[in-house]
Amino acid sequence: MPFDDETEKLAKTLALKNALEHGGKAALDAVISKFIGSRPDKRSEIKLLIPEIRTVVQSINAMPSLDQKALLAQLAPGELETKKQTVGSTSSLPPLQEAVVGSVVTRFPPEPNGYPHIGHAKAAIIDEEYARIYKGKLILRFDDTNPLKEKLEYYDAILEGLKWLGVKPDIIKNTSDDILKIHELGTRLVEIGGAYVCTCTQDKIRDMRAKGIECECRLDHSVALDRIRKMFDGSYEQNQAIIRFKGDMKDENTAMRDPALFRIIEGQHPLLGKKIRVWPTYDFAAPIEDSLDGVTHAMRTKEYELRNALYFAILDRLGMRKPIMIEFSRLEFEGLPVSKRKIRPLIDDGVISAWDDPRLPTLSGFRRRGFVPEAIRKFVLSLGITLAETKPPFESLEAYNRKIIDPKCIRLFFVRDPVEVCILGAEPLEVTLKNHPTDASLGQRRVKVLDRVYISAEDAALLKKGDEVRLIELYNVRIKEIELNNNGKGPLIIAQIGSNEIRQSMPKIQWIAKNDIVDFKVMIPKQLYIGEEYNTNSLEIANGGAESFAAALTPDTHVQFVRFGFCRIDGKNTAIFTHR
Ligand code: ATP
Ligand code: MG
Repeated sequence: MPFDDETEKLAKTLALKNALEHGGKAALDAVISKFIGSRPDKRSEIKLLIPEIRTVVQSINAMPSLDQKALLAQLAPGELETKKQTVGSTSSLPPLQEAVVGSVVTRFPPEPNGYPHIGHAKAAIIDEEYARIYKGKLILRFDDTNPLKEKLEYYDAILEGLKWLGVKPDIIKNTSDDILKIHELGTRLVEIGGAYVCTCTQDKIRDMRAKGIECECRLDHSVALDRIRKMFDGSYEQNQAIIRFKGDMKDENTAMRDPALFRIIEGQHPLLGKKIRVWPTYDFAAPIEDSLDGVTHAMRTKEYELRNALYFAILDRLGMRKPIMIEFSRLEFEGLPVSKRKIRPLIDDGVISAWDDPRLPTLSGFRRRGFVPEAIRKFVLSLGITLAETKPPFESLEAYNRKIIDPKCIRLFFVRDPVEVCILGAEPLEVTLKNHPTDASLGQRRVKVLDRVYISAEDAALLKKGDEVRLIELYNVRIKEIELNNNGKGPLIIAQIGSNEIRQSMPKIQWIAKNDIVDFKVMIPKQLYIGEEYNTNSLEIANGGAESFAAALTPDTHVQFVRFGFCRIDGKNTAIFTHR
């Protein structure tokens, strides 16, 4: 019999969990794959086990879900609680493989070579969420092993971005803190014949790698031992020698064709200055650090897929503990690339003046644009950790943001390109305007209206003589005359005060009393790139007027300009358009 007590219990537990996650019906395939995941030693018996697992799944699927829960509680106490935590309302993350509550360690390892962006937010939030779900730890590790690219400014920007996002690491450290340990492990790898020092030219290395041929540096171990000393004692110049992993020069996975593990870089490291010259590549530093740091679940984006074999091979040769690797897709929006290759030139050339420009996908850019961190978190978690490389619609992030800011942000009038309306028969009056349609705690404002108001050029363009329109929260007016050029002062609309009856069919438009208008500017960020080209019209400016009330608002306030959109106050009489 292939089933024993233990495996039978495992099959039942897995089937119960799967059933409870899927409306009471477990899927046979899923249960089999989980089973093999937990008991790889049973892989060879799987043919015999499948009928047994099928029987278990059928019997579990025939149970009412209350009984399923009771049985699961009996077989695996605690499993139901974990389930509640993992499939909670804010999180669509699947359970972590082999995760033990209380011992999960995840890490977010940004290189301090630029400002954090929306893709980093995804990685950091997922890392943190898993650490939280399993009551484990999140490490923020600055992967600072290239002095030519890294700057203190970027460490700070990353810290600030994470703080804004609400991501709170339990431990903050730098890869460079461990540089001597990393040197030691690199040296050991050479000593045990797992790596060698190569002094070939870059061109030769590239060529041999393409052809799948080993170079002579790889062959003689005593040469390697001599060179590894020289590597660290300063005998080599930059580009004269690198340490390479002894992989397989014929491997179909070119990442295994003796990749570089260390190179000499002459440069001022932001923390260590010029003290260190031999720097590990990402390929070496990442597995070593993950292993030393006690990371149990290492997550990274899918483009590193081919490097996984190398990651594990390095740890294998050094006999070091291996984390579980989990991959997810890169996050980026159409027209809003996160790659530094696409953003840095715009900053360097002065096309965009700062990293917090609202057109950029940086966290500070999103912040200035009016996105709130809770929306980013909800959005990221709604994506889950799929591998699909599709760009999610930007509207989806907007929808999360709108849902959060809409109940608490005040309504005001803004008119773009104002057109004056003279209202015949209007008596001076004072109206009370609610700051929010349903939440009275947001207050109200009183506005004096004489006989002149402004409306937006866009609304004015649609009006014809005889039309009746509603000035929102004021009264109706009937258009009598449209003077396109009021003695060179631009268009003027003459209207007659109308009834107060609001009809479904009549246009309802925002307005600003002439005695209350202040100049106001709204910056409207558009797609940064169209295809491969920078969009020269990526920042539209809407000039117009707002109620004087708006001039008193402090930066960071969210407002909804009625019929225009949600905006964030950015500075004196200036706002940034967030979304409709
Ligand atoms: P770049 O250099 O283009 O900014 P990177 O991947 O090299 O990208 P790192 O700072 O090294 O940036 O990344 C830190 C972590 O964030 C890594 O685990 C990486 O996988 C993840 N990450 C980076 N960009 C994205 C993205 N667009 N979507 C999801 N995760 C990302
Ligand atoms: Mg990087």
